[in-house]
Amino acid sequence: MRGFVNPLRQERPSGFPQRAALIKSWTRRALQLGNDAVVSVNELACAQPGCPPRQSVILVMTEGASPIKLAIHKGLMDVVEADILAEIDAFRISQQ
Ligand SMILES: [Zn+2]
Repeated sequence: MRGFVNPLRQERPSGFPQRAALIKSWTRRALQLGNDAVVSVNELACAQPGCPPRQSVILVMTEGASPIKLAIHKGLMDVVEADILAEIDAFRISQQ
C-alpha cells in the first residue's frame, strides 16, 4: 500500500504532545488544581464562521465538582498561557 494516505489520521506537527503538556500545566496552575484533577487537552475541528478551522478544548474534571470545559478558538500549537487565563476568567464570570 505504498502511498496510501489514511484520511482519518490527523496531522500532528512536531512539538504537539509537548504543547499539550504545557497547556495542561498552565491550566493546572491557573486553577490551582490538585493531583486528583484530570485535565485533558484536545484539538478539534471548529465550524463557527470567522474562526480558524481548529479549536483547542480543555476539559477539567475534579471529583465532587462540575467539569470545566474551556474552548479556545485557536489551533493547539497557537495557544498561549494568556488565552487560558482569559478563558478561565470568562468561565468564572459565566458561573456567577
Ligand atoms: Zn472556533
